[in-house]
Amino acid sequence: SGSAVTLQELDGLAMRSFPLCMRHLYLKLQEDRHLRHGGRQQLGLFLKGIGLKLDDALAFWRGAFAPRMPAEKFDKEYAYNVRHNYGKEGKRTDYTPYSCMYIIMSSPGVGDHHGCPYRHFSPENLHAALSGMRLSPKSIDEVMEKTRGRHYQLACAATFEGAHSCQCDGINHPNQYFEQSRKFLK
Ligand code: SF4
Repeated sequence: SGSAVTLQELDGLAMRSFPLCMRHLYLKLQEDRHLRHGGRQQLGLFLKGIGLKLDDALAFWRGAFAPRMPAEKFDKEYAYNVRHNYGKEGKRTDYTPYSCMYIIMSSPGVGDHHGCPYRHFSPENLHAALSGMRLSPKSIDEVMEKTRGRHYQLACAATFEGAHSCQCDGINHPNQYFEQSRKFLK
């Protein structure tokens, strides 16, 4: 951590180095040009954690919601929350990204895309998402097996190993998944 991540790098990083929970939110945001509050918080704080600066975060969300949402409406209704997450509004708390445990314990409702896919997806949807990451059938079987045993973070570690062809040190935080991936891919 420490180094800044630019807006231009995000698409590539999302496909190569985001854990499935964040990859899913990122793809849904592109598809729907919108995310509900829980998803904006989970993804937004993660992006802050990987080094996206406030100005880039504002540009990212404004662009992601366009053209469905005009920039003026975004600035009026959503920009405050982005600045708030960066500690620039309200109590000026510098909010930290959510841990796996916190995400696994969350309860996304219908129409929400936050949460942990290993905990909250149906087996069919999880299988499809893993295929979308181009995991081998053998890796997918391993992930599905760990998921059935409710070992969600081990399932995430198995996904990491399948996606990077290397050993994973274990996963307890989405930002740690990202850092591990960057270290390996560098
Ligand atoms: Fe995200 Fe953690 Fe679930 Fe992996 S185990 S998908 S990093 S919440």
